[in-house]
Amino acid sequence: MSEEKENKYDVIVIGGGPGGYPAAIRSAQLGRKTLCIDQWVNRDGSASFGGTCLNAGCIPSKALLESSELYHRAQQEFSVHGIDLGKVRLDVKKMQLRKQAVSKVNADGVKLLFQANKVVGIHGHGWLLGENKVGYRSLDGKQEEIYEAKHIIVATGSAPMELKDLAPFDGDCIVDSWGALDFETVPQRLGIIGAGVIGVELGSVWSRLGAKTVIFEALKEFLPAVDRQIANEAFRALGRQGLDIRLGCAVCSVVVNGKKGVTVEFERDGKRASEVFDKLIVAVGRRPYTEGLNCGAAGVELDKNGFVRIDEHYRTSTPNIYAVGDVTGRAMLAHKAIEEGVTLAEQLAGQKNEVNYRAVPSVIYTAPEIAWVGLSEQQARIDGYEVKVGSSSFLANGRARAMEQAIGAIKVISDAKSDRVLGIHMVGPYVSELAAEAVLAIEFAATTADIQLTMPAHPTLSEALHEAALAVDGHAIHSANRPARKSA
Ligand code: FAD
Ligand code: NAD
Repeated sequence: MSEEKENKYDVIVIGGGPGGYPAAIRSAQLGRKTLCIDQWVNRDGSASFGGTCLNAGCIPSKALLESSELYHRAQQEFSVHGIDLGKVRLDVKKMQLRKQAVSKVNADGVKLLFQANKVVGIHGHGWLLGENKVGYRSLDGKQEEIYEAKHIIVATGSAPMELKDLAPFDGDCIVDSWGALDFETVPQRLGIIGAGVIGVELGSVWSRLGAKTVIFEALKEFLPAVDRQIANEAFRALGRQGLDIRLGCAVCSVVVNGKKGVTVEFERDGKRASEVFDKLIVAVGRRPYTEGLNCGAAGVELDKNGFVRIDEHYRTSTPNIYAVGDVTGRAMLAHKAIEEGVTLAEQLAGQKNEVNYRAVPSVIYTAPEIAWVGLSEQQARIDGYEVKVGSSSFLANGRARAMEQAIGAIKVISDAKSDRVLGIHMVGPYVSELAAEAVLAIEFAATTADIQLTMPAHPTLSEALHEAALAVDGHAIHSANRPARKSA
């Protein structure tokens, strides 16, 4: 054991992903002596900060989405621009090495940020020992310590849900999202269970690289959180690219046949059928990760789904223990985890700050991208609003046409009584970037008129958002105006 004094901190963070590392950095910036313990180990055996996001989630998936989109465009689109590349060759090994390098540079960045901000970052397992104490075991199991802190933050994240009885992961034929990011060759036939965010993103990656891809989705609706007009347009666009998304489809059995692949039996519209795949990705959601955290003994209550129960100030049921990020439920998004970590660090330092959960953007990085902030038209009506809406198609956007990406639309959903913008939902080129403007609108409680009175540069994709706002009141110049509608 080290000297007792050295083991005392103001803040200890367990977990160094997007919830944990920003909480640690902000705490240290605010003058708190801060320790962050993280147990992530990559497949090559290297310990790394950054959690799921930097090592097996957001960043590696976006690296592969970019590479596969370039491959797809080089094959399908460049000739339209008058660029003849001849036969485009694919080197999956090189693509994977680039992905790893992108992840590593980001994860190494966290280490540098810890050093710059004087956060003590250590690799190993942490567990709760009551109000102020945390146990620590090094990754090789050789060193154990007990640390003490005024405040303890749990940011242990989430893990893929497994369909244990139907399609248990075997790390070869049936894989989770991490396994699906690491395929060494392009499967000829790829099956995916779940047409959520991971299903369509990773389905896009491997389908663009040549895999015949089928996605089985239990729900009858595609992406239920997204406005119907936008979700339907996205569904059609992904279908045209070759993604075979089968809605209302129940997978009944999954059998691995050794080298012959995996047979999936499914039922749709009362009819049973089966198909054989080389790989099957199970992407049916993520669960909170609290293994080995000792929540029960430390008095930290979990809800019925295993999420750490917190109040509006991220306090758990045990004094001085707090929790942020995926382990607490709500949207499992890296930016939401970051904001929670930073906000909590500031609250612990006495600052008054809070996260606006009405202004959390969601993005699906397919091509076209899908992005939304706030309510869909359907949800707004369910919530009792009298709604007026306007939409604008990228078909009428000069920049999108010049980019050869005139596909998709933006829809603005506003309160008919106050004119306040309730939601902005989009599908189209780079709408992930337009989402920032939508977030500002919701955050600043903008009205439709506020957006109408702004002036986007020409020609830009942002003009489509301006047009959609104009369309809400029938003023659109470049698109067909949809009259304001009364609540159904
Ligand atoms: P995590 O990132 O899971 O980090 C938790 C950390 O705690 C891990 O390093 C873990 O090893 C460590 N830990 C757990 N228990 C202990 C313990 N007892 N002791 C020490 N350490 C411990 N979100 C987006 O916003 N945008 C995206 O584009 C996006 N893409 C994604 C793509 C994929 C394929 C996946 C799987 C997820 C994606 N996400 C995306 C979701 C995003 O990764 C998560 O929302 C985010 O990582 C949550 O951050 P977190 O800090 O709560 O948890
Ligand atoms: P998800 O909740 O987005 O989608 C899971 C889908 O699987 C749902 O549509 C659900 O109806 C379906 N499903 C569940 N059980 C099924 C079954 N037995 N048969 C067929 N379909 C079934 O979950 P995910 O795609 O696994 O992603 C997990 C989390 O990771 C999400 O919360 C997401 O926010 C986060 N994530 C975010 C991004 C991003 O922000 N771009 C990218 C990847 C992951």
